[in-house]
Amino acid sequence: MRMKHFLQKVLGNAEPFLPYASALILPTIALFAAIAVSSLTREITPILFFLPTIVVTAWYGGIKPGALSTTVSSVCLTTYLFYLQDFSSIPQIPTLTQVCLLLAEGYLISIAIESYKHTSQQAVYRKKEKEYQTYIAHLEKEKEKTQGEVKARDEFLSIASHELRTPLTSMLLQLQTALNNIQNVSLANFSVANLLNMLESAEQQSQRLTRMINDLLNVSLITTGRLDLEIEETDLVVIVKDVINRFAEKLDREKITLELEAEEKVLLFCDKLRIEQVITNLISNAIKYGNGKPIHGIVGKHNSTGVVVIKDSGIGIPKDKQKLIFARFERAVSSQNYKGLGVGLYIAEHIIHAHGGTISLSSSPAKGSTFTIRLPLDRPKY
Ligand code: ADP
Repeated sequence: MRMKHFLQKVLGNAEPFLPYASALILPTIALFAAIAVSSLTREITPILFFLPTIVVTAWYGGIKPGALSTTVSSVCLTTYLFYLQDFSSIPQIPTLTQVCLLLAEGYLISIAIESYKHTSQQAVYRKKEKEYQTYIAHLEKEKEKTQGEVKARDEFLSIASHELRTPLTSMLLQLQTALNNIQNVSLANFSVANLLNMLESAEQQSQRLTRMINDLLNVSLITTGRLDLEIEETDLVVIVKDVINRFAEKLDREKITLELEAEEKVLLFCDKLRIEQVITNLISNAIKYGNGKPIHGIVGKHNSTGVVVIKDSGIGIPKDKQKLIFARFERAVSSQNYKGLGVGLYIAEHIIHAHGGTISLSSSPAKGSTFTIRLPLDRPKY
């Protein structure tokens, strides 16, 4: 084990010098090979023994070992040519030509290999650079998205805490006033009508609180993938009419008309309560953002789908926000002007998609919004 470590260390330290060593050793081997072959046949081209050694050294070591190998090969070639002729003779012109040729070829090969490797390495680096740039752009996008989500969540938390506190504070105030009246003011001055008013207001606030808490619960069910549907055969017309009836008092109070154009029956398979929840959200938004103008509803059948349309003539939604408002906690209005948690459409879209349906929006600012739901008439496939 120790020996292995020792060898690894020695070889590791020696690695940078290996090409230089091969620049010395390989031409020497080529020289002996040329001498050995020439003893068998005189018909050899000695340069061909040295060129491969230069190529190998330049390929693995680069230009400097390549040049060294060329120089050593030239010395070896000269030695070989002298060996064949006579040691005492003066170098002949063909001998010098061959050596010069090898020198020129060797240097050129080393330069060519170096520049080829350089270019191919550059191409690899360029490709890698492009890949990194794409990856960085992807990360930047992810970062922006995450920052947007964190901002939306923070805004949601501040809105939610405010929205949840308001009905609680109001309820507390009503109760305190009632208690105060009962304890300190003579009961003769404290009418049943007064008490009834207070209790009704407290009831409304607690209903608002329950709705908000339910919305939050639904968001958590969706994000954890636990929003289950209880599918049964239902009439979509009945669902829509029921929801509108529940709004009758509010519509009356706010003097808003809601006209419904309905087919006689639209039977389909859905989770009744969930679809009621979606329609409730759309109608309550049409009232909230509808500027008190009339609301128009349609329920019917079209191409094997059940269709519900809720159209208002209110504030409308800018084009760039129309997709965004279906995302969690996203809103197209300021929380000072309009109360809300920004989760209703997120829940609605999720419920409709879970039924295999679609929800779409067409809207222009100051002209109003039209939300259209399409639900398959057949049993949803999972
Ligand atoms: P909330 O109403 O509580 O903010 P929603 O998810 O129901 O949450 O709606 C998201 C946003 O979409 C709203 O804040 C509002 O900006 C916009 N919006 C929804 N319905 C309408 C509509 N009928 N008219 C104009 N804007 C709407």
